[in-house]
Amino acid sequence: MLTLRNMEKAKEEERWVLCPSCGSKTRVKIRKDTVIEKFPLFCPKCKKEFLINIREFELEVITEKKEGEIAESQDI
Ligand SMILES: [Zn+2]
Repeated sequence: MLTLRNMEKAKEEERWVLCPSCGSKTRVKIRKDTVIEKFPLFCPKCKKEFLINIREFELEVITEKKEGEIAESQDI
């Protein structure tokens, strides 16, 4: 049974996604029940983009891009 107290507790379960490389806070916030697949997470500190999966606060890095490689998709 879902009580009001449980709902409030679930609301508190939010965390900032930390950069898998340097461990600093990114601008992405997730909940415990957030499921992310193939999300391009950008870290403003090390200026890298990571393709990540997240499930129950568990972060998995698929690929790591360096700064110069991000603008790759411009050639038409
Ligand atoms: Zn970083």
